[in-house]
Amino acid sequence: MLTDEDLYLRFDGYEDLKPLLDGSDEDVLVALGKPALIRIPGTDAMPEARLVSCLLHGNEDSGYRAVLEVLRAGERYPFDLWVVIGNVRAASQEGWFAHRFLDGQEDFNRVWGLQAPTTRMRRCADALLDVLLDARLAAAVDIHNNTGMNPYYVIVPDPTQESLALAAGLADTVLRWPLRARTLMEALSGHCPAVSVECGLPGLPANHAFASAILRRFLSMAEVGGSALGPPLRPQRVFEMMHRVVVRPEVPFAFGGALTEDLDLVLAVGLDSHNFGMMLAGTEVGRMHATAAMPLLATDMRERDTTARFFTVSADGSLRVTEDITPVMFTTTVLQTRRDCLFYVARRRA
Ligand SMILES: [Zn+2]
Repeated sequence: MLTDEDLYLRFDGYEDLKPLLDGSDEDVLVALGKPALIRIPGTDAMPEARLVSCLLHGNEDSGYRAVLEVLRAGERYPFDLWVVIGNVRAASQEGWFAHRFLDGQEDFNRVWGLQAPTTRMRRCADALLDVLLDARLAAAVDIHNNTGMNPYYVIVPDPTQESLALAAGLADTVLRWPLRARTLMEALSGHCPAVSVECGLPGLPANHAFASAILRRFLSMAEVGGSALGPPLRPQRVFEMMHRVVVRPEVPFAFGGALTEDLDLVLAVGLDSHNFGMMLAGTEVGRMHATAAMPLLATDMRERDTTARFFTVSADGSLRVTEDITPVMFTTTVLQTRRDCLFYVARRRA
């Protein structure tokens, strides 16, 4: 029988952690070898707690690097600081930060709050969640990167006033998104304000710097989401997730290039530049063999098919959008399209 200790590493305070932090960010991954749960005890007599999680997707380095900076600084806070470092193996095997998750693994941000966990990863998520739900969390922030061009934004799975206030304290653009995807922040949402911050593309110093700034903001908030004296903070721009668009799984496709006997869909390059902006009706999304059936599938948040509302194919095989839409998270890679989706359609809220 495996104990929780086999599923993840647990650190209490800086003492055992410090020697591990000496090397490079990559060295730390090797030293950990598995997910880590860290608690830095608060200085208050009866401290509340805040959680920061990172690397739930192994290829998203910005938040991880920012978290290591905080841990290396060795500070303590009025609250217990809890840290989850997620898919360490995906971040360190077959190249540094090369995989969202490994072949044979599930997505580590899709396995939280499941009943009857059947796999090692799901048991790990369950064990971590048990500890976190006992930790008197006052707020939780999960740090991610995107695969296409996007502004910095915060995802709020459960738009309570407290969650929106927390989000507004972190970034100007907020995306309300009832994912129902078994993410860690969803699993915590009923217990405390819990949001995910998206820090743009991974591997870029500017986005690492943004993640660091977010983390500093979060750790220095006197009250989560603003002052107890003033009204709660409200985000400047709020979008709501409406539809999800995938390439049908049997359709071989590429970004850019020409249609061939082996490619049934060629998607236009650069469409991620429309993310959180506007893609006008008539914009060509891709080219396809004119007599083939629709290669994209759009569904709303209740998983009803909405493809015909958004896409049409002209007689010459041009695949176009039929109405003005706000795409978010339009990706640029085949792998990410397969592992998540091509993009989402959002709506700006007044
Ligand atoms: Zn992610």
